[in-house]
Amino acid sequence: MPDNDAAPTWENWARTARATPARLAHPRDEAGVAEVVARAAAAGLRVRARGAGHSFTPAAMTDGVLLDLERLAGLEAVERRHDGAARVTVRAGTRLFHLHHLLASHGLAMTNLGDIDRQSIAGAISTGTHGTGLAFGGLATQVSGVRVVTADGAVRGGGIDDAVGSPERDLFELARLGLGTAGVLTAVTLEVVPAFWLRAREEPAPLGPLLADLDTFARSADHAELYWFPGTRRALTIRNQRLAPDDAAAWATDQSGLKGRLRLLRQEARGLVDEELLSNGAFEVVNRLATAAPGLTAGLNRISARTLAPREHVAPSYQVFCHKRRVRFREMEYALPRAVVGEALTELDRWLRRTGEAVPFPVEVRFAAPDDVWLSTARGRETAYVAAHQYARMPHRRWFDAAERILVEAGGRPHWGKLHTRTAEDLAAHYPLDDVARVRRALDPAGVFANPYVDAVLGALAPPASGSATT
Ligand SMILES: Cc1cc2nc3c(=O)[nH]c(=O)nc-3n(C[C@H](O)[C@H](O)[C@H](O)COP(=O)(O)OP(=O)(O)OC[C@H]3O[C@@H](n4cnc5c(N)ncnc54)[C@H](O)[C@@H]3O)c2cc1C
Repeated sequence: MPDNDAAPTWENWARTARATPARLAHPRDEAGVAEVVARAAAAGLRVRARGAGHSFTPAAMTDGVLLDLERLAGLEAVERRHDGAARVTVRAGTRLFHLHHLLASHGLAMTNLGDIDRQSIAGAISTGTHGTGLAFGGLATQVSGVRVVTADGAVRGGGIDDAVGSPERDLFELARLGLGTAGVLTAVTLEVVPAFWLRAREEPAPLGPLLADLDTFARSADHAELYWFPGTRRALTIRNQRLAPDDAAAWATDQSGLKGRLRLLRQEARGLVDEELLSNGAFEVVNRLATAAPGLTAGLNRISARTLAPREHVAPSYQVFCHKRRVRFREMEYALPRAVVGEALTELDRWLRRTGEAVPFPVEVRFAAPDDVWLSTARGRETAYVAAHQYARMPHRRWFDAAERILVEAGGRPHWGKLHTRTAEDLAAHYPLDDVARVRRALDPAGVFANPYVDAVLGALAPPASGSATT
């Protein structure tokens, strides 16, 4: 494939954003990235890198040069620590599903992950991708170093060990979660842990008691989350508990006999049914029915919620954390102060009941520890995430507008990669946007890495050039 292809219109996974870049480049290596950036900047073109296109927002869109970093994949270095953990440097275009296997071959794993693993590591950290767990932060909190091609075509590095306030540390702060505004990430250094297994317990539970004491639920496992079907009073609770190596080994021994293998087969069969019900084949059918006859949605949700049954399984961490999502949907997600999440969910429930809005997709609730990453949605506070979804063939506006009103009122911060309507003006109270602007000005005075979305949510540095097309 040539380095600079004629660029077709590119659309994200959710089909909520598209752009026709002037050029699409597939650099082979870091030097190739630097050359493309330097040439584009000299020609007055803007530059964006894309990952897997799994952001719902037009974060990666540009009408300038679009960089695809899929050739920059794989591990660069593994630096082991005495406790079995390690610092690994991975090329920025590496997809998470590939990274799991690379890490596993060294007996290592990422300490926490989101729901899927289709994303590139650079794309995932750049929008603040997170999973769940009271004591765990999002993916950007696992980053300890970055290598970035900046607007002048130079390759610069920065990391957690650089002095606070130094140019290297500033670069690190903006590059580990900054929507690509520091420049093009070419490598990311991650703090990873010894490979571990999770025991997953999934069980339906009545919504009322859960909402009345979400804290107890959040504390009931290392990684707790719940899915609630709108219009019903039932939720699917998921508790993923980290297993000590001895427990995982004992579990594996337990499965080695005939009985164990049969149990494992049953577990896998149940897993398949649940994965299909909640996320894929059968769920697509349910959603198509709801699209054809929205009035049936509440009934369908009740059936879905009743079909859920308790299940327990044990598997390597990344297999438990990540799922396949074949049913296309739209998503909005807000990070709330944890203490108010029960109230906010009750408000969402009230709105859904009052309006009878047809929403066949569950609402998802997750948790995160406070962190100090500049643009992290969990910055400085105990956090609970509330995600509203809608099937891609059904209208999402009214539901998302209502959800956004309620979640903003509750002090929410929008996920940078999921649909929302907040602007820099709204977000200034939540983030150190002055620091962000200062570092952007120092690294990219001409706004080479800006696009309309970045300008809207972080503030425009220079008069915006012609924008990317979005829907
Ligand atoms: C089905 C589905 C499930 C999801 N589940 C979760 C979840 O569980 N938790 C969660 O928090 N989010 C989730 N998301 C959101 C998703 O993780 C984020 O939107 C993520 O940013 C997507 O990564 P990507 O590789 O597709 O990046 P893209 O969407 O392609 O890009 C994201 C941003 O990163 C920038 N970027 C990409 N590569 C580089 C680079 N090399 N250098 C600099 N900037 C770069 C882009 O310019 C853009 O600003 C989900 C999305 C989908 C569609």
